[in-house]
Amino acid sequence: MTATILPFDQDRDTAGFFQAAAEGRLVYKACDDCGHALHPPTDHCPHCGGAHTTWRDARGTGRLHSWTTVMHQIHPDYPAPYTLVVVELDEAPEVRLMGRLDGEPLLVPEMAMQVWFEPLGEGGPVLPQWKPA
Ligand SMILES: [Zn+2]
Repeated sequence: MTATILPFDQDRDTAGFFQAAAEGRLVYKACDDCGHALHPPTDHCPHCGGAHTTWRDARGTGRLHSWTTVMHQIHPDYPAPYTLVVVELDEAPEVRLMGRLDGEPLLVPEMAMQVWFEPLGEGGPVLPQWKPA
């Protein structure tokens, strides 16, 4: 897909997420002091106040938490219908990531999902996406 709406991938808190995606890895931020997953990613832990955080590799599998199907086209680069999904990571369910599926796929709550990586244009960011496993 050639997308004209691109995520800002140079943000201090999220650049590591997009850098890993460009390498074909899915990561999430976690606190080294108490182990909590930190999503959205931050460099300070709201659970223990710790300032030691690192990106951890995720397996790239999750469970479907929620979804909605868009029936009316909003932007010319995203023809409707398409379905937006919210997926919880298997190893850190508090980390919920979004994805987009074409059309109106048959989905059920808690179904197994698998990440894949979508390059957004020539030299653009790479976005983790989800599909049924
Ligand atoms: Zn912590």
